[in-house]
Parts: sequence; structure tokens; C-alpha cells
Amino acid sequence: MKLSEIYQAYHLIHKFIEESYQAVIQGPLFNEAIFNASRFLISNLGKRQPLGISKVYIYYALSILGFRFEAFKTARVGYDKMQQLKIPTQWQEEIDLANLKCRSKPFSDKEGFQVICNRCMTSNSLINHSGDFCTGCGQTFIRNLIGFDTLPLVEFTPAAHIPLKSVTDALRMDPPEDGSYQGAKPQAKKPYRAHQDGWQENGNPHGEE
Ligand SMILES: [Zn+2]
Repeated sequence: MKLSEIYQAYHLIHKFIEESYQAVIQGPLFNEAIFNASRFLISNLGKRQPLGISKVYIYYALSILGFRFEAFKTARVGYDKMQQLKIPTQWQEEIDLANLKCRSKPFSDKEGFQVICNRCMTSNSLINHSGDFCTGCGQTFIRNLIGFDTLPLVEFTPAAHIPLKSVTDALRMDPPEDGSYQGAKPQAKKPYRAHQDGWQENGNPHGEE
């Protein structure tokens, strides 16, 4: 991962902690972006320790916001990790208390918060310490660098033996319109609708009998 991406994500977290009034002003969308940014950093940083980046800040944001979004399991990851890190003394009491509060909650993340892989539809947990990829198929998640949520994109490489022109032609082509390969009836029953979508043309097969 590029350093610029790390700093872009860390910028949000730094802002959240140093200028916490921002979170109050900007509301849940902004908080979700910070929560996503902390997950993005934890999954991607590994053992890297770029200059000026505080792991305490990252795990603190993860825990506080994880709790707020009812992602209690993920919040606990943050609290556990913070016990191994050097925390500013003035934070200690607050963190201990928040940690205790989190432990009284179920050890799970709120439903619907999991990351669904766009390639294989595996449901992934919110943090993968080995990297920012799907545990089912290994697809790297592609994130937008503003809200740090995963985009519905799948990167692929065409086979080497296909000429470049055929690849670009195939990419420009529309998906099949008649759906014939799905066993639908061919052109004979030309629908009266001008709609080009095969799925809609065959939408009422029982009515034709
Ligand atoms: Zn996958």
C-alpha cells in the first residue's frame, strides 16, 4: 500500500482525536468514514510504522466508534490491542471504563456490518490482520479514499494469449440481450415491448400457455 493512502486515512483519525468537536458537527457519516479508515489502516499496516502515525490513535478510534456502531467484537480487538501499547496517562481511566462497558456487550458485531466480497460473496469480518482482502477468495478490497468503504469493483487480468484489441472489444460489448443461453425461447415470440432486456421479455412465461 502507498504511503499517501496511509496518511490519507490517518488524517481522518488524527482529526477525530485532536479536533473531536468535528465529529459532533459532521455526524454519523463522518464517524463511519473514520471507523472505516481505522479498519483500513489496521488491515494494511502490518508491521509498518510510518513516521508520525500512532497506533494508539488508530485502535482508540476503532474501539470508540466500534462501540458506537454496536460492532462490539471489533471494538474489543481495539481494547485488547491497546493494553499492549503505551497509552497517554490521562486516557487510561477512560479507556479502562470503556473497555469494561464493552465487555458487558455481546461478543459480536451488529448484523449487516460485515464486509461482503464482491467476487465470491463471502461475508468477511471487519478486520483482517493479514491484509485488506477477502478470506474466501483472496480478492483485495478496493476502497474509496474518502469514506474508506469497499467499492463494488473486482480487479482482473485478461489471459495473456488474448490480443489487447479483443479484450477492449469484449469490455465495450453489452451483456447478452436475449438470454438465450439461459434456455429462454428464441426470437420467434418477439415481444411487443421495445425493451431490450431479455430478463423482462421473459418475465411472464406462465401467462403464455
Ligand atoms: Zn471473496
